Amino acid sequence: MDLTNVDLTNVDLTKAPAHKPRFATVWMGGCSGCHMSFLDLDERLLDLAQLVDICFTPIADFKEFPEAVDIVLVEGAVANEDHLREIRLIRRRSKLLIAFGDCAVTGNVTALRNLFSLEDVLDRAYRENSAVVAGVPTGNEIVPRLLDRVLRVQDVVAVDHFLPGCPPSADTIYEFLLSLLAGETPSTRGRKFGA
Ligand code: SF4
Repeated sequence: MDLTNVDLTNVDLTKAPAHKPRFATVWMGGCSGCHMSFLDLDERLLDLAQLVDICFTPIADFKEFPEAVDIVLVEGAVANEDHLREIRLIRRRSKLLIAFGDCAVTGNVTALRNLFSLEDVLDRAYRENSAVVAGVPTGNEIVPRLLDRVLRVQDVVAVDHFLPGCPPSADTIYEFLLSLLAGETPSTRGRKFGA
């Protein structure tokens, strides 16, 4: 579709028809691979956009998680104080919260640091491996403080559905979302941890 001549000056892109479920995706302590898999929906993203109002996602320029979200996919574990604050806010503002990918479901790669103390992890990253400025960043409120341990999403808030995979495939994501949008309980058939 050619959009070059469409005048969007007076169009409020934050407003969607009332009947569309409000859909969000969130990226916390993960590698973004689950969102890359979401983008692998390719042309099916256009079909999805017909079915939902995409009201928040890291793949567009939204600043604040909105109120009254119907479905949210949460990628990643809860690894720092910002994640902790965000996931509580997201839970309060969302009807269905989905742990999206193995890091959200089990901690997975993000939780590997739980094998070590936080101090050892910080030493390794910011002191031993620092090539320019050695020292743990503190006090500037730019780098959020890491939690002592990485947590699964379900350790902090109630989770309505789990969608494992590292990452879940685009086909799995699409089938899962279509089931939810049809008001069904998504099948767990074919879902698995890892690739
Ligand atoms: Fe990345 Fe795998 Fe974690 Fe998804 S589950 S954020 S692909 S490491």
